[in-house]
Amino acid sequence: MAVPFADLHLQHQTIKSEIDAAIAGVIGDSAFIRGSYVDAFEREFAEAAEVKHCVSCANGTDALYLAMKALKVKPGDEVITTAHSWISTAAMITHAGASVVFCDTDGATFTIDPAAIEAAITPRTVGIIPVHLYGQPADMDAIMAIAARHKLWVIEDCAQAHLARYKGQMVGTFGAAATYSFYPGKNLGAMGDAGAVVTNDGALAEHMTMLARHGGLVKHQHQIEGINSRLDGLQAAILSAKLPHLAAWTEARQAAAKVYDAGLGQIEDIMVPAVAPKRSHVYHLYTIRHPRRDALAAHLKANGVQTAINYPTALPFLAAYQRLGYRTEQFPNASRDQGQILSLPMFAEITRAQQDEVIDLVRKF
Ligand SMILES: *Cc1c(COP(=O)(O)O)cnc(C)c1O
Repeated sequence: MAVPFADLHLQHQTIKSEIDAAIAGVIGDSAFIRGSYVDAFEREFAEAAEVKHCVSCANGTDALYLAMKALKVKPGDEVITTAHSWISTAAMITHAGASVVFCDTDGATFTIDPAAIEAAITPRTVGIIPVHLYGQPADMDAIMAIAARHKLWVIEDCAQAHLARYKGQMVGTFGAAATYSFYPGKNLGAMGDAGAVVTNDGALAEHMTMLARHGGLVKHQHQIEGINSRLDGLQAAILSAKLPHLAAWTEARQAAAKVYDAGLGQIEDIMVPAVAPKRSHVYHLYTIRHPRRDALAAHLKANGVQTAINYPTALPFLAAYQRLGYRTEQFPNASRDQGQILSLPMFAEITRAQQDEVIDLVRKF
């Protein structure tokens, strides 16, 4: 049996009539840019994310840029983030005008190590961007305590963590702002690019809205120089149609993770994802570690099971960051993990038979 890494088509089949109606509505109203569908999704997502304001934008990468620009980072400022993430997190620090400072992960959860943050702070540090990687919250109590002690802002990168909670509190509600991606493969995915930045700070929300809409809230009144980063009406309506299903999809991912945990947890050399106490994991990715990762991935591929490596090179070691001169010894966990991590098929609709096939193949390996 072939097992895909994810199956967007299958999900679409389950809600096809709702998606068709949403698309027809937008076309009928010619509400392609801004308009009532975008306003509605912003309201609905703010409620789902348990925040006051949602500023939609073109993608999760722009969301990071908008948040940092609104927090007024400037040349010379340093922003601390994790060595283990998608490149957007780090690249937008540079594009917003500041300097990237990487920290290692904690060795167990793939999220940033608070002790490493403390060690990386200098008089130029202005903020911290933790990433709730793969769907597990970073250690927010420790991170917020460090931020308070050093008067730093925090932007949570929630691109992989829709509806995840830390000690019962929704991710994205701890820091000054939080960013989301609705890239099609994310836990809440559009049918194209889409993103949002959320905050409880009304003034910050207004500033981010201006930045994303050519620098003004009213047509032809440009208060500042902005960019064009908009969620289009079709994507908004599609996201509104999908949002009511997100909680059930999340539970399905969590149930599938339990099946993997039980089936893989006892196998020699396999490290299943560790979830720290009082954190809920929403399993955007189910990522194991294995010392012979490449051979395991090849064995699964040869037997029809798709896997992925998220990500094959930790951020400090990418060509894009060669200028910073980082050495592998500075990131013992991230540098070990880049050679051992393997993401297994994970999606809300995955069947028990598909998971048993994956587990069987891993066991045989
Ligand atoms: C997907 C992702 C982003 C960027 O989102 P896009 O919508 O693809 O621009 C940023 N950070 C992380 C951790 C992501 O996984």
